[in-house]
Amino acid sequence: MSDTDGKKPLGLGGGSRSGQVKQSFSHGRTKSVVVETKRKRVVVPTKPGAAGGSGSGSSTHLGDPSKRPAGISDAEMERRLAALRAAKAREAEEAAQRAEDERQREEERQRRREEIEAKERAEREHEEALRLKAEEEERAKAEAEEKARREADIARRAANAPARVAAASGAAPAGAVTPADEPRTGKPGAAGPTPRKTDREREREERERANRGKGGDDGRRSGKLTLSAALEGEGGRTRSLAAMKRKQEKARQKAMGFGQKPEKQVRDVQLPETIVVQELANRMAERAGDVVKALMKMGMMVSMNQSIDADTAELVIEEFGHKAVRVSDADVEQVIDTVEDKPEDLRSRPPIITIMGHVDHGKTSLLDAIRHANVVSGEAGGITQHIGAYQVTTDSGAVLTFLDTPGHAAFTSMRARGAQVTDIVVLVVAADDAVMPQTIEAINHAKAAKVPMIVAINKCDKPDANPQKVRTDLLQHEVVVEAMSGDVQDVEVSAKTGKGLDALLEAIALQAEILELKANPNRPAQGAVIEAKLDVGRGPVATVLVQSGTLKRGDIFVVGEQWGKVRALINDKGDRVDDAGPSVPVEVLGLNGTPEAGDVLNVVETEAQAREIADYREQAAKDKRAAAGAATTLEQLMARAKADKDVSELPVVVKADVQGSAEAITQALDKIGNEEVRVRVLHSGVGAITESDVGLAEASGAPVIGFNVRANAPARAAANQKGVEIRYYSIIYDLVDDIKAAASGLLKAEVRENFIGYAKILEVFKVSGVGKVAGCLVTEGVARRSAGVRLLRDNVVIHEGTLKTLKRFKDEVKEVQSGQECGMAFENYDDVRPNDVIEIFERETVERKLA
Ligand code: GDP
Ligand code: MG
Repeated sequence: MSDTDGKKPLGLGGGSRSGQVKQSFSHGRTKSVVVETKRKRVVVPTKPGAAGGSGSGSSTHLGDPSKRPAGISDAEMERRLAALRAAKAREAEEAAQRAEDERQREEERQRRREEIEAKERAEREHEEALRLKAEEEERAKAEAEEKARREADIARRAANAPARVAAASGAAPAGAVTPADEPRTGKPGAAGPTPRKTDREREREERERANRGKGGDDGRRSGKLTLSAALEGEGGRTRSLAAMKRKQEKARQKAMGFGQKPEKQVRDVQLPETIVVQELANRMAERAGDVVKALMKMGMMVSMNQSIDADTAELVIEEFGHKAVRVSDADVEQVIDTVEDKPEDLRSRPPIITIMGHVDHGKTSLLDAIRHANVVSGEAGGITQHIGAYQVTTDSGAVLTFLDTPGHAAFTSMRARGAQVTDIVVLVVAADDAVMPQTIEAINHAKAAKVPMIVAINKCDKPDANPQKVRTDLLQHEVVVEAMSGDVQDVEVSAKTGKGLDALLEAIALQAEILELKANPNRPAQGAVIEAKLDVGRGPVATVLVQSGTLKRGDIFVVGEQWGKVRALINDKGDRVDDAGPSVPVEVLGLNGTPEAGDVLNVVETEAQAREIADYREQAAKDKRAAAGAATTLEQLMARAKADKDVSELPVVVKADVQGSAEAITQALDKIGNEEVRVRVLHSGVGAITESDVGLAEASGAPVIGFNVRANAPARAAANQKGVEIRYYSIIYDLVDDIKAAASGLLKAEVRENFIGYAKILEVFKVSGVGKVAGCLVTEGVARRSAGVRLLRDNVVIHEGTLKTLKRFKDEVKEVQSGQECGMAFENYDDVRPNDVIEIFERETVERKLA
């Protein structure tokens, strides 16, 4: 054997010898296991004949460590051990044999460790040699020859102990099925000597796979294969060492009861947003039935013709040991201009401000005050219609854009849709109150969004105002205001008197300057929908906050699942404008449908593109909903089955004038209820109540709730005909209260028990026609004929029921007082004995209300 032939596998084999082995399990869990590799000198006996032993399928040769194949990692070993243990439990009679196997494997593991160490050593020496060689190139030739001899020696050793190399190549991460193992286990029947040709074929397969393969396996596998190739290349041998190894391994596996696994290829599976189960199976080259089964195991009841979402599919792909590659088939979206702006194109833009804080701390008042002050100082005309955002100019000339939708719901629901439009949060805290739950929530929201905050301490006109308390309170929530030598600006204001408003605006302007907000006005516009509604007469209208570029009249755009051509732009003062640049809020007319708050608007070039994108998004959303619907997990099914028994549901259909209201109502309604009763919003949307809303409501026995909207004529007719209730509201609190009351009606009345008396049985008589009658003394309270009774014997309840008779002397009576004697007989129960105690109780039902 030549030097190079010997060296190569050693070098490559080294790749696998890291101290950590990563185990991967299903559902993406992984675990790192430390592989101990002591660097100690171990003399490994080189046995050239070790692999040349018999290929018999018997397990007896396992006892000889030199004949055992060693292509198994520790983790793999562990896995097999676990399986072995399970088998042990099943087959107790084979226990002894198994124990023996285990011992042998322990030996083997020890041996393998030694082998690895030896190989390491060899490699170290090899590397050392190389280094020296490079350094001492100009030295005497004799020395070089000497070194060459040393290398040859190392190489020879390596070639003579191919088991070591096999050990290295086998030490692949367990969990994922290593293809190197597979062929051995693939055909359990072929235990006897296998024709050499087949082995070669498999080897070729393996080599190909290794070339295609991924990750850390590469080096090892190719190392091994190179060795095999090298050995084969030598010729003269009738059977390659690798083939012998495989055969032995196969025999061993068979003896151990493993190895019924099918051969597996790790595939890259292209995974779109949703995928039909059958298609997923095709892409993994697995049977659809198996995929359905795997899904079932994960608690998903789907057929192979249903779609599942990408997240679920990814779990399945991992379960099958493949690799998911997420792809977006949204090529149509690529026409949207996403080019990064060059720094020199950027211009500063006004900040966008959201006001947050606890209810009644004065958010609305503050927004109004800021707006009023500004409108009044500007041109006459007072407050124009509200479009969800407005701009003000400070005394120093800075322009600020306020989102006119106070509260966290708007903030978070926009953020949830990926539209982070806010640059600065103004946290309103009332000086006569303290930091309240929603204040904390607002702080958390602002922090989560990484948006700087300015604290407006409001209601400072009030006599009991204590701004200092607010400041100290805020400390507890890690908001350190400037007055407390922190870096959060704080301003004392009064929305009522207007005190401090200018200071607040200047503080905002200052903060904005620090942020250096910039955008490129000279590009196709991109913006976020703040509010959208269906306007009678004007059609769908969306208030859009332009984020970059300039939106112009006549622009063609796509917004969420809708598209349109800008027919008119109306600014916050109610004026028609020709264009709107960055941070400018405008009402956009010319949509073909009502988008949702948080949707992103993008200007595109042609109508065809806009329509194509909108259609694509609509379809994608539909698919996603279908997938979500199909992906009813077993848990959900069970929860629902249970729910049917225990939980009453009040379904409702909600229609509102604007998206913001619809969302607020849905959120409020979702919060109603407890573990027994809940409100389920079947559908919520924007616009008039239509026939289809009524149809949906009828199907579920739900009322339709119209918030600031009315039913159209066909819907009214349908509702009358189908007996669907339509309720109109214009105040959310009223709506929520009513629904709460309705939901309370579903609460089962609580039954309370009141003990009214005790009686002791003195004697038992047998009365013909009546049965056993107990002669009792009422010891406490009263005995009432109509009441419920329990029979207690030694304080154990042995019967509960009602009375058949209550007699005082010969007369049937309604009630017997304490201290009196009476006769009692139970309905449908006869086993009464002297000294038993009868407990008499009444039940009352109490109507309950939802908190
Ligand atoms: P929001 O729930 O945070 O929007 O609070 P509102 O703006 O609705 O205000 C709640 C109540 O506090 C209203 O009755 C306002 O009149 C009152 N209020 C708001 N700001 C001030 C203020 O600066 N001073 C006083 N005295 N009352 C205020
Ligand atoms: Mg308010």
